[in-house]
Amino acid sequence: MAKRKAVVDKTHCVACGCCTSACKLQAITVFRGIYAQVSDRCVGCAKCASICPADAIRVESST
Ligand code: SF4
Ligand code: SF4
Repeated sequence: MAKRKAVVDKTHCVACGCCTSACKLQAITVFRGIYAQVSDRCVGCAKCASICPADAIRVESST
């Protein structure tokens, strides 16, 4: 089964932290105040992507 995971475009991320608050699994954190980073806990629910003001998150599927 394909696994869905959030992917952050570092060039667009403004490190606002909105995604961190939105993720109930704490799967996304802002790394050193520079950009958001997604961990393996991510289940690809896309909650963070829908809240990101910079439109920096995409949910991708991998097989
Ligand atoms: S919500 Fe978007 S801009 Fe803000 S930290 Fe997360 S990925 Fe970056
Ligand atoms: S896609 Fe869902 S589980 Fe993954 S980082 Fe975003 S809010 Fe968290």
